[in-house]
Amino acid sequence: MRSTPRQGGGKVVTARKPATARRQSVAAKEKPATAGKQPATARKASSAGPHPGERLLLESLPVTTVIPNIDLDITDGCNLACSYCFKNLDEPHNMSVETAKDAIEWLIRASGNCREIGVNFMGGEPMLRYKAMRELVLWGRRRCQNIGKTIRFSFTTNMTLFDAESRRWIDEYGLGVLMSLDGIPEVQDTQRPAKDGKPRAGIIKEWAKSLLRTRPNADARFTIAPVCVHRLFDCCVYMWEEIGFKSVMMADAAYEDWTEDHFRIYGEQMDKVADYLIEDFRRDGKKRMAILGYYMSKLIAPRDLGRPIAGRHWPCGAGYNYCMIDHAGNIWPCHRFDGAAKDSHLGETILLGNIYNKPFNHALSNAFRNIDHRRIFKESCKDCPSEPICGGACPAANLQHSGKLPSIYCAHEAYCRLKKIAYGKAERLYAEIRKIAPERCLEFMKEISPGGFDH
Ligand code: SF4
Ligand code: SF4
Repeated sequence: MRSTPRQGGGKVVTARKPATARRQSVAAKEKPATAGKQPATARKASSAGPHPGERLLLESLPVTTVIPNIDLDITDGCNLACSYCFKNLDEPHNMSVETAKDAIEWLIRASGNCREIGVNFMGGEPMLRYKAMRELVLWGRRRCQNIGKTIRFSFTTNMTLFDAESRRWIDEYGLGVLMSLDGIPEVQDTQRPAKDGKPRAGIIKEWAKSLLRTRPNADARFTIAPVCVHRLFDCCVYMWEEIGFKSVMMADAAYEDWTEDHFRIYGEQMDKVADYLIEDFRRDGKKRMAILGYYMSKLIAPRDLGRPIAGRHWPCGAGYNYCMIDHAGNIWPCHRFDGAAKDSHLGETILLGNIYNKPFNHALSNAFRNIDHRRIFKESCKDCPSEPICGGACPAANLQHSGKLPSIYCAHEAYCRLKKIAYGKAERLYAEIRKIAPERCLEFMKEISPGGFDH
């Protein structure tokens, strides 16, 4: 059974249908809007001040799954112009506070009996909508208190727009923060230049350090593209030593641009990372890189110890365990699918619905739920050591790169090359630290394995 990231156990839950909402659903159906535009009915109703949720189309709710978590694309505007940005939209849109409240009401219903629900503000850069976030956090908490649910708020941020007041607010309200940065100033300002042309690496470092003071175990999420792969190791060291992260989470991007040279450099850089982590372990340190830790704790250590491997054959919970709602109320399988739909020209084919005017696409949601990477024939999987725990890469990225719907299940060849290289380094790292201190190595495996190591 899939243990992560689905929550709510995939139980079939039928949302209750309040009469007011049913009435509104009919009105909304009479005047449908296309994806990307806020429906006229919704705009009119908003100025007249309907209660949040009154305008929801009840048929937009899932009935074959429960969705306890959403991303809210509160804006798709951003002050940076990252070279690998997957949004790729024509013009930025802001979500109105009314639509955001409706989206949270949709989540309350879509989460069925789940007591804990989560809203992650996404963008774009959500801090551009700081005031709206404040209002929504206050409102959402009060709303959920009244119905016996707990709501967790978090956001993904480039940290360039913080000030002392917003920084205080984040701690006061206990928001989760996913810090997105690319490492040394040269790489940060090359891969992620600010639209006003000013360097931002310095301020990012300061706010990241500040956030780590109250969230010492937070990860740094960084992206590596071929253009800066020769600085991969320096970026990791910068985030471990200069900023103070314990763990770095690396994503790779721009798959079309990877050449044989880039793969070779990636291998050399990852060797340096492994050497560094071996020395850190020798000194009793706990630094880590997520992909290496994942391979070691989920695959390499169990193989070494003759324990069963907890296979994982799906990539994520997109489309059936969580989804993204955009400024117009469109429900996408996750935050990357609006961009992927545009790039692949699939448009509404890949839309799960619209909270105001488009019924939930149960067939599409079930297709996401049933993704099983083992059913996909891919030549390079045959000799891939990470196959038992590979879900086949991010479906949105697969779609974005291939432009074709069937390829949603099929990882880009560059992705696979990178993963095979990383796996080799993880094997070496594990063998070395096991030699240095066998017991401490196993303790470390338990610690870094999110779903548990003993099974
Ligand atoms: S990394 Fe690529 S080759 Fe390896 S199992 Fe996953 S999809 Fe297949
Ligand atoms: S489709 Fe990709 S970006 Fe979306 S949730 Fe899954 S892994 Fe993440």
